[in-house]
Amino acid sequence: MMYRQLYRLMRIIRPREFRSLKYSRELERNQWLSRDELEHIEWQKLKKLLDHAYANVPFYRQRFQQVGLTPADIQTKKDFCRIPLLSKDDIRAHEDELIAQNYAEGMKRDTTSGSTGIPIGVYHDHNYVPMENAAFTRLRRWFGVEPGDKAAWIWGRRDDLPADTWSARLITALKRERWLNAFRVSDEEMQSFAEMLVEWQPDYLVGYATSVYLFARHVSSHHIAEIHLKAVETTAGTLWPHERQMIEETFDCQVFDRYGSHETGHIAAECEYGRMHIACDVCCVQILTGGKPVSEGEVGEIVVTPLYNYGMPLIRYRIGDVGSWDTQACPCGRGLPALHEIVGRTNSIITLPSGKYLYGGIFLTILEDVLEIQQFRVHQPTKNKLEILLEKGDGFRQETIDLVHERTIKLLGDEPINVSILATNEIPPTVSGKYLVTTSDVPVEF
Ligand SMILES: [Zn+2]
Repeated sequence: MMYRQLYRLMRIIRPREFRSLKYSRELERNQWLSRDELEHIEWQKLKKLLDHAYANVPFYRQRFQQVGLTPADIQTKKDFCRIPLLSKDDIRAHEDELIAQNYAEGMKRDTTSGSTGIPIGVYHDHNYVPMENAAFTRLRRWFGVEPGDKAAWIWGRRDDLPADTWSARLITALKRERWLNAFRVSDEEMQSFAEMLVEWQPDYLVGYATSVYLFARHVSSHHIAEIHLKAVETTAGTLWPHERQMIEETFDCQVFDRYGSHETGHIAAECEYGRMHIACDVCCVQILTGGKPVSEGEVGEIVVTPLYNYGMPLIRYRIGDVGSWDTQACPCGRGLPALHEIVGRTNSIITLPSGKYLYGGIFLTILEDVLEIQQFRVHQPTKNKLEILLEKGDGFRQETIDLVHERTIKLLGDEPINVSILATNEIPPTVSGKYLVTTSDVPVEF
């Protein structure tokens, strides 16, 4: 109890935490507004951001001028689509010009490798972390998790891990967090983390989707039943149905997946009904195909505009994911719009020689009953080549490889693709530390 009181005190004393409380109150109210009211709020925030970017960010002033636009010309969402998209390459090439001239001081540079492994640098201003924390507070409350509840993290990114200083250790202790490094996780480390959690009894578990799944698999296979959680929060990469099922059964609680990135911050999260609600009061989302908004049910490229990072605005940023809208009202009653499905990263989509696309999930559906495979990865180095890596489990035989080959050929039909299969004892994470089911070097054009 003392920790909780100290934590509350810290939230009032630290300016950053205090700002977060202010934002938190705003977001709590917003979620129950109607869709129209929320769209109005989003549009007002967007307009303000565009005015600021034009007045203070050299990159945008130039970019607006190149296409003959001023913020006054942007009166509707259709006008907003006239602003050219921002790519990762744009950020790499124009990092300095993307910084707002009136925000140059006091910003934190964050580098992210994304799933491609090529780093980009993004600056976050003083409002970024408070707003991010407020967004997390809102979505965790959907599952009964309150600020100050005990959190077990399975995370790997060095910049996010608590620093080795006394102040960082104090804050981690006050926030009641325990961390397991997801990038260097052996059976022994998972076992000792699990034993610590049995003793400590966290309220919730947060981590990379596949890392949490691997941990749940360990906990389940070692019959460790004494970890009682309110909820499990997963992020970074697709949470596949079999992973969700394993995690929910192991910890006997609901899993909620959230969607965001280090460049943009929080974007969306699942509510208690499993709908992926977009925090449209924090980040504006568009889904496009051929440069135009998709129609209902259509899959397209996800393009985002975070509404709070004035220090380095990212306007219509191509985050590299593909998805579609969920237009049904959610039984939870929140007015926040929703994504139907995030089908994957653009670099996880396999483009067949005929021009058709294959999403990662399809391989799961054809291989999920092959129990002799622990994990697998499909990589497309060129348009006519597919390499499948299988991690051997109990009972793995030559016939397992033959079966995977036969099913893959059947899935591909008449497509002229050469399929090669390699069996290994362990599949390492990708360069970004995430476990992706499919990766492709063939670019997708939307
Ligand atoms: Zn909902």
